[in-house]
Amino acid sequence: MKQLCFATNNKYKLAEVSQMLEGTYTLLSLQDIDCHEELPEEQDTLEGNSLQKAAYIWDNYHVSCFADDTGLEVEALQGAPGVYSARYAGPQRSDADNINLLLHNLDGKLNRRARFRTSITLILDGAQHQFEGIVEGTITDNWQGNKGFGYDPVFIPEGHDRTFAEMSAEAKNAISHRGRAVQQLVAFLKAL
Ligand code: IMP
Repeated sequence: MKQLCFATNNKYKLAEVSQMLEGTYTLLSLQDIDCHEELPEEQDTLEGNSLQKAAYIWDNYHVSCFADDTGLEVEALQGAPGVYSARYAGPQRSDADNINLLLHNLDGKLNRRARFRTSITLILDGAQHQFEGIVEGTITDNWQGNKGFGYDPVFIPEGHDRTFAEMSAEAKNAISHRGRAVQQLVAFLKAL
């Protein structure tokens, strides 16, 4: 089977995407290719960051790979936290601090509309391809559920009445931003 590196240190995501690739490709982690340094992520768009991370692996390790970058875009906050979602409340990158700041900034706001957006850049034998996945939804008033990570406890996807943190991993993957972006990536790889 062909090999492809997923340029992430997040074990939760590796497991999530491995499950979706369903035996088409063997997924390599950064550890598997002996990459132990932090990947550069200095752009001001999701597309720029996913490209920068994938290009870093291709340039330095010469392995076909893909990288993702996700942001939560909240309508009443003019698209914030967006590309800064991981460090919204500061460089400590704490999920709890980020959620508390988000709820504070939305306090009293009637418009709770938000969306998660994921950009994936694939570099396959040197050629670049980009994919996007979006899930629309709303931000709750309070924390609900304890599964998942990041902003999952306060995001209810459109057409549902539970937050991502109240869903099984399978149910979330089927409709999530990253799930949708990966579905496109997988369809592209299968069509080759
Ligand atoms: P990353 O680019 O996937 O590392 O995502 C950046 C930040 O967006 C994370 O640190 C989380 O705060 C948030 N995030 C990304 N994906 C998810 C998700 O599936 N659920 C909740 N929050 C997420």
